[in-house]
Amino acid sequence: MEKTLVILKPSAMQRGLIGEVTSRFERKGLILAGTKMIQLDDAILNEHYAHLKDKPFFQRVKNSMMASPVIVQCWEGIDAVSVVRALVGKTNGREAAAGTIRGDYSISFQENIVHASDSVEAAEVELSRFFEENEIFAYKKAVLSFLYSNDEV
Ligand code: ADP
Repeated sequence: MEKTLVILKPSAMQRGLIGEVTSRFERKGLILAGTKMIQLDDAILNEHYAHLKDKPFFQRVKNSMMASPVIVQCWEGIDAVSVVRALVGKTNGREAAAGTIRGDYSISFQENIVHASDSVEAAEVELSRFFEENEIFAYKKAVLSFLYSNDEV
């Protein structure tokens, strides 16, 4: 099954949304394979947001991501990358559809609650950036046969 990276950003940590956001992924049927709280620094954000380095808001976004510790999570499921991105919604919280995490909890472009990997390739790179191998767990979920049909798993 596919794995993807989610970061509960300082906006989620400060606004008391850790439980509610985590619950969205759980209720969907995604399986939590790894989680921990970390403090991001400039070096790891330069890697993680390398695609934004020429944007005028690059430093501002990095400062926002360092404003408090964050929680990183590894979620697992069939097509987990696209399933999580759909739950998260558009980048700008003001434009994100109601019912998505950003649509329901964010009114900002920058302070948009969560990061989620945007492709399978990015997920692999990002998971190895934030997790050691022994921090990702494979364990049997008793509920699996009620999440998927036999031919899906
Ligand atoms: P996403 O997080 O949806 O994959 P990007 O990778 O394009 O989006 O941007 C990374 C993060 O940088 C966004 O989640 C948001 O916090 C911030 N960001 C992106 N574009 C802007 C912008 N135009 N103004 C302010 N912040 C932005």
